[in-house]
Formats: sequence, structure tokens, C-alpha cells
Amino acid sequence: MSTTETNLDAKAPPPERVPEPAVVLDPALDPGRRSSTARNTSRVPPVPHLIASLRNWLTDLLMPPVCLACQEAIASRDALCPGCWSGVDFIGPPLCDRLGIRLPYSTGGAMISAAAAARPPPYARARAVAHYEGAMRKLVHGLKFRDRHEVRSLFGTWLCRAGSELIEDADVIVPVPLSRSRLLQRRFNQSAILAQEVARISGLPVHTTALHRTRRTQRQVGLSREQRRDNVRGAFEVPRRQLANIQGRRVLLIDDVITTGATAEACTTTLLKAGATDVDVLAVAIVADPLRITT
Ligand SMILES: [Zn+2]
Repeated sequence: MSTTETNLDAKAPPPERVPEPAVVLDPALDPGRRSSTARNTSRVPPVPHLIASLRNWLTDLLMPPVCLACQEAIASRDALCPGCWSGVDFIGPPLCDRLGIRLPYSTGGAMISAAAAARPPPYARARAVAHYEGAMRKLVHGLKFRDRHEVRSLFGTWLCRAGSELIEDADVIVPVPLSRSRLLQRRFNQSAILAQEVARISGLPVHTTALHRTRRTQRQVGLSREQRRDNVRGAFEVPRRQLANIQGRRVLLIDDVITTGATAEACTTTLLKAGATDVDVLAVAIVADPLRITT
């Protein structure tokens, strides 16, 4: 894949629900305008375009665009170099409709994995952009631990593409919350940043404080399934002032990484108890084998 193809693909908008621009800045691009007007204005670029071009030129001169994962110089902003792009293991069909994990082959229509059939999750559907490894893991670490928030735009685009069916059905977006102590330590909730990006692109309302973490929990890695459930049991609540935002709504829960699924399950159970009609889960990454993850 060429650099151009990579960058165009990374910045391409999701297929649906992208708000229409309120104003067409270039009349030549507006099919509703008469052709004579388009012909005249196509010769002289409008002033806003000239200002934007000059601003972009100056920005590129002062801060040349770099790959979001490895910081190698590239042609466009908010994109990956071809090497890092090829290192992202994107998850596409055929998928388990419930867990969002990749299936070995398609039988046509919606399919359920053996894991989902044996133990159905409380959420309706989960989707993730890619597996939590390689360049994707580096990008998530950058966002969470090194304040590399410039990846938010690319993550938002990817999330809207991977979760297009979920977004189509959702009424509200809610992020997985951090504990108060973790929030004070990190100063931001990465899931809330992702939720706001999905809301900005999709036009859906987002309630970043609809879920509250009542206590700090241990990391889920290395715990047995029962220990994972115990670890997050009762760890979430919907504050009374937020009930009206959840009751009778189909909620799209946003997380950064689905590790074991226990956190998403605990959040879902809390939202359903608070009156949500259904919950879908959307994350930028999912751990293919939780037992092998160390960080
Ligand atoms: Zn790179």
C-alpha cells in the first residue's frame, strides 16, 4: 500500500451519520449552484481557502507531519507511515456478532462464536478496531501514558468505521469511567476522549459522567474469570442525576481496550439496571489472548 493510499484511508470519513457541512465554502463544489457561478469562482480561490492553505503551509513548515506511532516524517497529519500501518492487525469480517472477535470463515448472515454461545455477554454486541498488539498497542500506550492526544482524530475515524452498525442503532454514547484517584493521577480519561471523538463525528450525544467508578479496581490481567468478576463487581454506578440520560436509551459504551471483557460486562450490567434498553461496546483494541498480556 502506498503512502498516499494509507493516508487517504486513515482519514476517510465513516460511511454514514457524518454531519453535512452547514456551508459550502467553495461554490464550485456546490452542485446546487448555477454553472456560470461555479465557472467564475473556480478561477480565483475564495479567501477562506487561501487563508487555510497558508495556515496549513506554515504549520507543516514549523511542525512537519510525522507518523503517529513511530514519528517518522510522512506526507499527511493524523496518519501512520506504511510500515506502522501494516503493523496494525485490523479486525474485519467474518466476526462473532456478540463478541466482535474474528471468525475463521463466513457461513453467511450473523454468526456467533463458540465462546459467545457458551457464555453470552450482557451487552448486545462488541466491536474493536484492531488487536492490541504492534503499532496499535504503541498508539494506545502513547494516548494513555505519554499524553499523545494527537491520535484522537485517527482513533475517532477508526472507531466510527468499526462501529458503524452500533452507532446507527445508538441513542447515547457513554465512556468507561476511571476511578477518582486514577483520574487525578492521569488528569484525563482516555475513554472519554475517544467517546467525544465518536460523538463529534457521528453527531450522537455523549454523557461522559453517566457512569461513575465507585472504587479503584485491580488490573484484570492474571486474574481468573471468577476473580475478574469479583474485581469489578459493584465498581460502577449511574448517579441519580444521570438516570434520565440512560433510561429507555440504547447506549454505546466506549472503552480504549477490551482486555478480558469483565469491565465492559460490569458497566453493561450497571447501565441495564439503570434502565438502558440495550448496550453495545466499542473499543479501539481488543486483546486476542488476555493471559499473554503483561502491560
Ligand atoms: Zn510509523
